[in-house]
Amino acid sequence: MIALTFDTDWMGQDDLRRFFDEYPFPGTGTIFLHQPYRFLESTPHERCPHPSPASPDEWKPSIRRLLDDLGLEPTGVRTHSAIHSHRLEMALYELGFKYTSNTSRLFERHIRPVRLAWGLWELPIYYMDNLDLTMEEYWKEAGHKPLSPEVVRQALRDDALYVFDFHPVHVTLNTPNLRYYLAHHAELKSGASPFQLQYRGRGVGTLFRELCAAMEAAGVGSVALKQVWQSATDQQASLQAGVKR
Ligand SMILES: [Zn+2]
Repeated sequence: MIALTFDTDWMGQDDLRRFFDEYPFPGTGTIFLHQPYRFLESTPHERCPHPSPASPDEWKPSIRRLLDDLGLEPTGVRTHSAIHSHRLEMALYELGFKYTSNTSRLFERHIRPVRLAWGLWELPIYYMDNLDLTMEEYWKEAGHKPLSPEVVRQALRDDALYVFDFHPVHVTLNTPNLRYYLAHHAELKSGASPFQLQYRGRGVGTLFRELCAAMEAAGVGSVALKQVWQSATDQQASLQAGVKR
């Protein structure tokens, strides 16, 4: 089961719209939003908040404000920089959230949804573009080679859960490595379009296109995380019913 998910950091309105036009993908995606993008309301994609939780006292009110700005009911959430803690999960439970997608189980096989305390489900991430790129710098002894086509092949091999977390800014910039991104970070921050700074070799955009092409060829469409959460809860309910019988 492949779930394509996207975090909207550093994308302006026009650039995100252009991303959806120029990088079509099969099935339904889940978009984690740090701000409203009204054009998404008329698409089939699932929309969830992507808050930047600051101090613990502010967690609940700030996430509530973002939900209101986005016009969303609480279902799923991914925090910026994947911040998670038990106290934050308690706050998310109190706000009415059903699932989070924050932990990284990079390149692992047989990933399944995990039940957290307070009944929340965690839908772990199999691939995240910026973690793939930063592993070169931050775990040198692993000898990790980023942007490997094997990431795509593995995801189509079996029915385990494969949550891909792409940043449209890295797809459209076609970020090849951390250095390239950092070299252009100030321009992006000051409002430059990632399309204008696009890298011409192999980058995140290349891998994203390869994944979409492989999914199309295999007749596989992305499922929204809400659907992953629903099948996890259904499966648990039927297991419990089986135990009682
Ligand atoms: Zn983020």
